[in-house]
Amino acid sequence: MANTEPAAIELRRLTFQYPNGRIALDEITCSIPTGERIAVVGPSGAGKSTLLMHLNGLLPAPPITSDDKTQVFVHDRGVTRQRLRDIRRQVGFLFQDPDDQLFCPTVRDDVAFGPLNLGLSREEVMSRVEAGLAAVGMADCSTRNPSELSTGERKRVCLAGILACQPAILVLDEPTSNLDPRARRQLLEILRAFQGTLVVATHDLDFVIDLCTRVLVLESGKVQADGATEGILSDPLIMDRYGLEVPWRLRKP
Ligand code: ADP
Repeated sequence: MANTEPAAIELRRLTFQYPNGRIALDEITCSIPTGERIAVVGPSGAGKSTLLMHLNGLLPAPPITSDDKTQVFVHDRGVTRQRLRDIRRQVGFLFQDPDDQLFCPTVRDDVAFGPLNLGLSREEVMSRVEAGLAAVGMADCSTRNPSELSTGERKRVCLAGILACQPAILVLDEPTSNLDPRARRQLLEILRAFQGTLVVATHDLDFVIDLCTRVLVLESGKVQADGATEGILSDPLIMDRYGLEVPWRLRKP
């Protein structure tokens, strides 16, 4: 039976130019079904971060006010200025650098910040904070100061704050950068347990193999390849052409 559920994310000829004239995204068209885990890969400067930021209206783009002008749709609704609050409830965004996301004196306050902004009752906020911290294995750290934690721990606190908002879609920019192997594995487990739609930009192709079913290769702001993870990442022609390397695990003898 055909899937009639609206796509979690739909990009319709998404084009974006920075104020300095640089065209970072060039007519990107892509539909991401609900529940899919997709990786966006490509060399530095390909447009990965710019693409991700469009998914919850993070760029100071021209203030789009109507559906017929926007090129980004979340669950069939255009990402417009008026809907930003609603879009950000649905799309949780994990920045590459946890310090862009943490600013409270305690872990608990940081994790509570998002749910409090949703206008939930104090009880509900506390229960979500507990659940979020438990999900990332940081339940014992609620009274600590985030600045005293390791990068991996701070990243997990950020993720707890996002999970506490119960988003349907998680967007992650270079989630494994600066993580040691154990922290990386913990992050992988957390993300694999997430039931929603996941979009991850990363250079860590082994992480992609373990997490994502689909890969989008971006270069010069264009989609250069789009397909099942193993097919794309094991293709030496595609990988070589776009400055990537076939991961060891997928190399043919
Ligand atoms: P990636 O995440 O794949 O490394 P980015 O999305 O960061 O790529 O950048 C895409 C292109 O846009 C690059 O050419 C980059 O130099 C340019 N760019 C990124 N941010 C800005 C900015 N704030 N102003 C101007 N150009 C930018």
